[in-house]
Amino acid sequence: MSTFKLTYATMFNPPEEMHTRYEENLAKVRQGVGKEHAMLIAGKEVYAGEKFEDSSPTNTDEILGIFQKGTAANADDAVKAAHLAFSSWSRTPWQERVAYLRRAADLIDQRIYQMAAVVSLEVGKNRLEALGDVAETADLIRYACDQMDANNGFIVKMGRDPLESYEVTNYSVLRPYGVWLVISPFNFPCALTGGPAGAALVSGNTIVIKPATDTPWTSRLLAEVFRDAGLPDGVVNYVTGPGSTLGQALIDHPQVAGITFTGSFDVGMKIFREFAQGPYVRPTILELGGKNPAIVSRHADLETAATGILRSAFGLQGQKCSACSRVYIEEPVYDQLVERLVGMTKKLVIGDPTRREVYLGPVINRSSYRDYQTFVEELSENGRILTGGKVLVDGIFAKGYFCAPTLVADLPLTHHLWKTEMFLPITTLAKVSSLEEAMRLANDVNYGLTAGFYGNEEEAQWFFDQIEAGVTYVNRPQGASTGAWPGYQPFGGWKGSGSSGKNAGGHYYLPLYMHEQIHILVKKV
Ligand code: NDP
Repeated sequence: MSTFKLTYATMFNPPEEMHTRYEENLAKVRQGVGKEHAMLIAGKEVYAGEKFEDSSPTNTDEILGIFQKGTAANADDAVKAAHLAFSSWSRTPWQERVAYLRRAADLIDQRIYQMAAVVSLEVGKNRLEALGDVAETADLIRYACDQMDANNGFIVKMGRDPLESYEVTNYSVLRPYGVWLVISPFNFPCALTGGPAGAALVSGNTIVIKPATDTPWTSRLLAEVFRDAGLPDGVVNYVTGPGSTLGQALIDHPQVAGITFTGSFDVGMKIFREFAQGPYVRPTILELGGKNPAIVSRHADLETAATGILRSAFGLQGQKCSACSRVYIEEPVYDQLVERLVGMTKKLVIGDPTRREVYLGPVINRSSYRDYQTFVEELSENGRILTGGKVLVDGIFAKGYFCAPTLVADLPLTHHLWKTEMFLPITTLAKVSSLEEAMRLANDVNYGLTAGFYGNEEEAQWFFDQIEAGVTYVNRPQGASTGAWPGYQPFGGWKGSGSSGKNAGGHYYLPLYMHEQIHILVKKV
């Protein structure tokens, strides 16, 4: 166990103890389902008049918890609490903030099995993906701490201007902005809440967290981690409720100094435009959708390509921003690769994602389930469904949102579904006559998150050079377009997939949470 490091690339053959501990914790978590959970504002448990249910997408009769339908007044209280706490937290020496955040990362490690069980239950993630989500959160926070250390808190002594009779010291200091809003999506409720939260906090900002309505429990556990790590009251505030009302009230709040939003393109762009209506420009980090291609050359190792494409197409039921949703295959290897992909897809095990043997769980909610049916209908009218194309309704599937993993061929290359993020277990396959054609199609979308390639080394360099995406993978069986880890593969998107051009978990990320101040001190000598 001690030598094993769980990442999305190493998760395919974990040690036995991981399964045992996950199962023990799942049983404990299951005993506690159905309870009511409060929001956390200024260190206090806060209840709203209205509530909502967090139900399991695997079995919609299973109510996992009752959560608060926060109001605009709760949003105001949370931002004010964070504003009040900012004065002292921002002046806490950065080394102390690092110590607090490292404690939080250690607590996540200690609670990883419990938190992963909750992720499996509320997202429908299989156990290894769920453990990965939680483990990545701790490492994202640690990476932010390491960056503070490595850069001496971003305090840099600058040159001295040669002034006669004066001694001048110039310093560049990166300082926090104020109240930072973290709005996260359902699919990585731990890492995409905890990662931005850790970066904002270690930089000296105070935060308000607003998780997706489908996944409020995981973020509640994360807020408890920060509380239990000793962060002062008001530094971390956690509110729950609809994006359209509570989320909107947070976006509109004049005391919010910066935002990290991870979610869909449409909501992200709306937030971007509305946040810009404030009295001045405030930092807005957007991590948005993807329409991630894989290109397969005639020189590819087809076994590797098929394995990587399949894992990226159907891991987490295709509901990853980095999911491989389109594949361009050179004509000489098209039939062979498609045959392999279809054969392997048919063998994927679908079911209750907490079970060891299951690879695909349900999709997140009724709306996604309906979208799947609509897309499949459109795809079968315009292309050819090679496998899947059905929702699963019998026996163990009766009470959940289960959709068969679907491969589609012969969809005209002008069809809009080549450019629309479906965010479901559906991948379209195209035959191309050359790599140039594949690259032109791959880049001809508004998104630019991740991309994969299978071919020889010379082609690989060409691929890196030509592809328009923030994270690019070559010859990777662990995933054609998915799987990134802080410090190894910083993650972020180009074009419509992200706003900052800097990837989370990488060298350039942390400074996004701070503005620069220059200290010029002059002494007469
Ligand atoms: P959504 O955009 O639907 O929601 C994301 C978050 O925004 C939720 O917390 C939601 O709350 C909230 N929200 C919705 N409307 C508003 C509003 N008007 N004001 C403030 N907040 C609002 O995304 P999903 O949760 O469905 O996540 C899937 C999307 O996220 C995909 O497009 C995927 O590609 C993208 N994503 C991008 C990643 C990246 O790193 N680039 C990583 C992971 C996902 P509520 O749930 O209450 O509606």
